[in-house]
Amino acid sequence: MASFEIVAEAGEARRGQLQINDRTLETPHLFPVINFYGGGNEGALFGGGVHRTVKEFLAHDNEVTGGKEYSDLFRGVMTSIASLTDYGIREKKLEWYLGNEIREWECFSDYDGMIFADSGGYKILEQGGGLEGEDFEKEIDQDKALDMQLDLGPDIVVNLDHPIHPDDEFEERLEKMEQTAANAARFAERREEVEGACYLTVHGYYDAMLERSFDLVEAELSEPIPEAFDGIALGSLVPRKDNVEVLVEAVSDCKHVMQQRGYDDLPLHVFGISGKAMPLLVAVGADSFDSASYLHQAINGKYSVSLFDYVPIDEADFDACDCRVCNDDFHRARMRNEMDDLYQKDILGSVAAHNLAIQQRELRQFRQLIAEGDQDQVAGYLEEAAKDQKGFRKFVYQLINERMNPYFEETDTTYA
Ligand SMILES: [Zn+2]
Repeated sequence: MASFEIVAEAGEARRGQLQINDRTLETPHLFPVINFYGGGNEGALFGGGVHRTVKEFLAHDNEVTGGKEYSDLFRGVMTSIASLTDYGIREKKLEWYLGNEIREWECFSDYDGMIFADSGGYKILEQGGGLEGEDFEKEIDQDKALDMQLDLGPDIVVNLDHPIHPDDEFEERLEKMEQTAANAARFAERREEVEGACYLTVHGYYDAMLERSFDLVEAELSEPIPEAFDGIALGSLVPRKDNVEVLVEAVSDCKHVMQQRGYDDLPLHVFGISGKAMPLLVAVGADSFDSASYLHQAINGKYSVSLFDYVPIDEADFDACDCRVCNDDFHRARMRNEMDDLYQKDILGSVAAHNLAIQQRELRQFRQLIAEGDQDQVAGYLEEAAKDQKGFRKFVYQLINERMNPYFEETDTTYA
């Protein structure tokens, strides 16, 4: 059973409650990407490095958390069937992984957040339509993808999609959209096997492409989209992730197409995006995101000071951060590399938790603003966030003016 209730709105931004079986998630929400299976065994939480430390935070390992509670960072997480084979495993191990749902493994049995299981379309497409291990190659079609997703014990599943690329020719885009739509129809036929929520992927950067993407799905389905699906997931944006203008247009146009077709009550998830684009995408109606950027930045030694800026970890000022990681002497000592026998994973794992805390904190603040229902406050928040961001600032002010009622007296370049 899945439901989505909108509890407050400020302009096009909205705060909601996503309820799936007995789990509730406040939106807008960021699902951090977790690789539950990193090629290792259960005793090592399946794998090593920073991935393992992040899972130790998620699984309340006292040696890593210092006995503190970090579950609010992981209320909902994203994983993918494609990550099962990230570390070149053998087929026997794949079968072993798929033999137990994530929460059936002892180490994750206390995890009570939502698990969004992606179909891994992007990676599978890159690998020519399959998953590869050391001694196997599996062709993945819609049925096999869903079988594997369900083996993980997820709360949200999504159809196998064929993401488009900015360089694809028109014909290629169309072909991929047709394949995605055909998969969506097959996925919908099996929806009674899913105990949680079923999301539909759509692709496109602007209105006409998104219209086409929805048209193709509607033509394939035997019932209206809101009867077959519990949410919409917008894909193909990762290659454009640094172009905020493209992202805002894509999400905003997707939202308008959904409104015109009467799907506006469904939650809208944006695949693979976080960071500075998030507040703007929330302002035009996005409800959730997923991203591994908190982790990748940490692996590169980067400590987040805001949604916009990072500094090298040895230049970080922990006193300036109000997150629990930075306010814990144990983690400060780790991040400063002041303890004996520290592994890189311990240092960078704490940095990853901090980076994630910064992103979750911003969304929490944004949820509070939306709850107050005051569009001016939302605009003020965006203005404040963008004020030191050259290049980005002009675009933010333009968005506020055009999409959120004229907040400023004058439009124009005087703000740039
Ligand atoms: Zn911090």
